[in-house]
Amino acid sequence: MSDCLFCKIIRGEIPSFKVYEDEKTLAFLDISPVNPGHTLVIPKNHSKNIFDISEEDWVSVGKAVRTLASAVEKAVGADGININMNNRPDAGQLVDHTHVHLIPRKKGDGLKLWPQKPYPEGEAESIVEKIRLEI
Ligand code: 5GP
Ligand code: ZN
Repeated sequence: MSDCLFCKIIRGEIPSFKVYEDEKTLAFLDISPVNPGHTLVIPKNHSKNIFDISEEDWVSVGKAVRTLASAVEKAVGADGININMNNRPDAGQLVDHTHVHLIPRKKGDGLKLWPQKPYPEGEAESIVEKIRLEI
């Protein structure tokens, strides 16, 4: 994809701080980190997100994420890592090339995850049935 931002990073047309590279994946520092060491892991083959990435590319990204989670955590002395992925604009996806965020966390860094709520009576049964029918 000639005009894709992350494809340009893969081709070296836009500079980045590369953390890791193999045949199928690239990882580099996010330009605007939540915490220092915030890393993005991407497939070298262009896909938009979880909905169109090939199984092979997803496996490669998953392996790199697993390796890098430990490396990043140790390197920055983090107390944990959030692994996050935004898929489609309404889920917060700004860059249209599949990417997984590795976000190092520090005890007491003050970041909050999403608010959660209980299911109203009967809704869990209905939703689990709908999801099973879509698989
Ligand atoms: P999204 O919201 O799509 O899940 O996240 C896109 C991420 O890409 C953001 O966290 C943003 O800071 C990062 N980003 C955007 N442009 C660039 C860039 O040119 N270089 C790097 N390294 N990261 C970028
Ligand atoms: Zn791309």
